[in-house]
Amino acid sequence: MTQVLSIASECAPLVKTGGLADVVGALPSALAGQGVAMRVLLPGYPAVMAAMGKAKPVLEEPDLFGGPARVLAGAAHGLDLLVLDAPHLFDRAGSIYLGPDGKDWPDNPERFAALSWIAARIGAGGVDGWAPAVLHCHDWQAALVPEYLHAMGASGRIGTVLTIHNIAFHGLADPARLKSLRLNPHRYTREGFEFWGRISALKAGLLGADRLTTVSPTYAAELMTDAFGMGLDGVMRLRQGALSGILNGIDAQAWNPATDPAITPYKTARGKAANKAALRAEMGLPEAEGPLCVVVSRLTEQKGLDLLLRALPALLDRGGQLALLGSGDAALETAFRSAAGNANVAVRIGYDEALSHRMIAGGDAILVPSRFEPCGLTQLYGLRYGTIPVVALTGGLADTVINASHAAMSARVATGIQFSPVTVEALSAALIRLCALYANPADWAMLQRNAMRQEVGWGASAAAYAALYQDLLASK
Ligand code: ADP
Repeated sequence: MTQVLSIASECAPLVKTGGLADVVGALPSALAGQGVAMRVLLPGYPAVMAAMGKAKPVLEEPDLFGGPARVLAGAAHGLDLLVLDAPHLFDRAGSIYLGPDGKDWPDNPERFAALSWIAARIGAGGVDGWAPAVLHCHDWQAALVPEYLHAMGASGRIGTVLTIHNIAFHGLADPARLKSLRLNPHRYTREGFEFWGRISALKAGLLGADRLTTVSPTYAAELMTDAFGMGLDGVMRLRQGALSGILNGIDAQAWNPATDPAITPYKTARGKAANKAALRAEMGLPEAEGPLCVVVSRLTEQKGLDLLLRALPALLDRGGQLALLGSGDAALETAFRSAAGNANVAVRIGYDEALSHRMIAGGDAILVPSRFEPCGLTQLYGLRYGTIPVVALTGGLADTVINASHAAMSARVATGIQFSPVTVEALSAALIRLCALYANPADWAMLQRNAMRQEVGWGASAAAYAALYQDLLASK
C-alpha cells in the first residue's frame, strides 16, 4: 500500500464550507481499493476534536506559531485522522475561517502555515512508526508544505502533490510576517512566492510541489489563461508539464436517490413526483405548469446568481418556479429574499444539509450559472437524482454535462443544458430551452434517464490519483 497524507482545512462530514470538504472526505475510501492508504491531517477545530474517538499523541511541538501543539492520531466517520491540536490557533467558536466580525481571522496565515509546518514535519519523519510516501496538499491552506519541506532538507525524499480546488484564494500575507511564518526571506522574490508585494502561500505551493492537479480537465486548461488564472496564469503555464485535471466524483453513498434517508427514495425518475410535491409544500410553492428549478449554493460573485435574478422572468413567464437554498454575500441574500415576494420563488437563506437533499430530489432542474467553476458538485448530484443540470459552459460544468444540442438529442446522449457566454441573455435563453424540453414529456424522460445513468462516482478519478502517486514516486 502506498502511504499518503492528505492535508486540508476541511473534511466532510466533520467540517465543511464547500466542495473541498466533500473531496477530502471522499478520497480515502475511494483510494482504498486502489492500493493507497490515505490519512488526513486536519486542524483541531472544536468539531473535529469532539468527533475524534480515542486519540493518541504522536508528535509534539512546544512552540508552534505562538503556543504549544501536538498531533493526535485517531479516527472518526471511518477516516484515519491526524489532528493538529493547537488550541491557540484552532479552539475558536464559529466559522473556521471568519471571526465574529465576518472578516478573516487576522492570524489565518499563521493558522494554516502551522498546519503546513506540521505536515512537513510528518513528511520529514516526525511520527515514529509511520512515514508517508506522498504529501497531498489541498488549496492555499496546505500550500506551504513544499516550502517547509525544503527548509527542513527533506524535499528530496518525499513526493508532494498540490490540488487546486479554487485558484481565487491565494492565502496572501504581508511580507512583515516572513519571519513569523518561518519563511526564507531569500525566496521572497518574483521567481519565488512573492505576489505583487505580498507573500502568496498558493504561489509557493504551485512552484514547489512535484505535481499539481485541479479538479477538472477544462479548469486545468482555463487556469493557464489570463481570464481564469487570477494573476497566477503565468505560473500555471510555467508548471504546465506538472499539471493535470482530475474530475471530482460524488460520495455515491450519501448521494444515492435509492437509499437517501432525507427523501422518499426512488430508483427511476418517476419517483421524483412525491419528492417534488413534498418540496413544494415545504417551500410554500403552488402547483405550476413549468419546471421547478433548484439552486443549492454559496451566494458569491463566482456563482453567477446575480445573473439568475435578472434572468428569472424567462423562467417565471413560462410557468417555471425557483427554490433556492444558499448563504453568503449579504447583498445577494437580500436580493433573493426580495425575489421571494413572487409566489413562484421560494428562498431559504442558510446552510442545511438535509434540505439540500430534499431540494435536489424534488427539483426538476438544478441551475449552476457560475462565472467559473473548478468542478462543481451540485450538478453531479442533479445528474444522479434525475434533476436536469442547467450550467454555464466553464470548468467542470463543461466536462460533466452533455448539452441538449440537436445532435446530442438525436443521438440520445444529452444530460442537461449548457450556456455560453455567462450572461443574462444566454442564461435566459437556456431557461427558455429548459421550459421547452420540459414541455415535451418524451424528451424530458430521455434527459432524466441519460442523466441518472451517467457515471458520477469516484471510480475513474480515484484510479487517476493512484496512477499519479505511482508515477510521481517512480520519478523520485
Ligand atoms: P463550492 O465548493 O465552490 O462551494 P461545489 O459545488 O464544489 O462548490 O460544492 C458545494 C458543496 O456545498 C456541495 O456539496 C453543496 O451541496 C454544498 N452546499 C452549498 N451551499 C449549501 C447550503 N446552503 N446548504 C447545504 N449544502 C450546501
